[in-house]
Amino acid sequence: MTNLPTSTQRKLGLVIDLDTCVGCHACVISCKGWNTENYGAPLSDQQPYGADPSGTFLNRVHSYEVQPDRGAAQLVHFPKSCLHCEDAPCVTVCPTGASYKRVEDGIVLVNESDCIGCGLCAWACPYGAREMDAAEGVMKKCTLCVDRIYNQNLPEEDREPACVRTCPAGARHFGDFGDPDSHVSQLTAARGGFDLMPEQGTKPVNKYLPPRPRDSLDQTDVLAPFLEPVAQETKGFVAWLDRALGAL
Ligand code: SF4
Ligand code: SF4
Ligand code: SF4
Repeated sequence: MTNLPTSTQRKLGLVIDLDTCVGCHACVISCKGWNTENYGAPLSDQQPYGADPSGTFLNRVHSYEVQPDRGAAQLVHFPKSCLHCEDAPCVTVCPTGASYKRVEDGIVLVNESDCIGCGLCAWACPYGAREMDAAEGVMKKCTLCVDRIYNQNLPEEDREPACVRTCPAGARHFGDFGDPDSHVSQLTAARGGFDLMPEQGTKPVNKYLPPRPRDSLDQTDVLAPFLEPVAQETKGFVAWLDRALGAL
């Protein structure tokens, strides 16, 4: 059991715009690249060129097809990484204190030298945002590029998370949600930004901006009738996402 701070001086996090994300995975690659080259041990891959490749990624993008009652099907791309929750169950469940939330900026981190690889935090996170590194036997997660944002050796324009710096669509924004005048606070307020699965009570710092409906003209999608749904009945995170996107 590890304690969370009662409050943090800043609330650093991301705004991710589901309206403009094109699912290009550039943020996934830049995240993997930066963290493999810099933070802790490299993010390992297993059988990267084999039949069943797997690996450690701190940011992943899932894509969903939404079929409205009328009109063309719409693709929604959903990037997902740690949301640096205020009431982070991944921290309180940790038996060694390896998982912690920083008082100065609210970033949730793992001290790898204290991690015993029990995996409890991964079970506790409702978003699937933690990744066990199979080679190192320790838990890894998004650090909000803590080794970039304060890094005086980098040019000032590079002192933001690698995913934000890379996104070609301008769909990712970084800032302090504790400041109501910050760019991320203003953007969230203006666009109706929402919490991911608020019913979990984790108070995620990261926010998502909803996708806007596409053309509502009478149009025929020639492919949609041929696409079989991947799952008829959804559960857990996917079920929540299904309901959220159903409002489109
Ligand atoms: S998203 Fe998951 S790993 Fe990140 S702080 Fe919240 S509960 Fe913890
Ligand atoms: S895997 Fe590591 S960080 Fe996660 S709960 Fe166990 S000791 Fe803590
Ligand atoms: S880089 Fe930007 S547009 Fe590409 S998947 Fe990531 S968030 Fe979406």
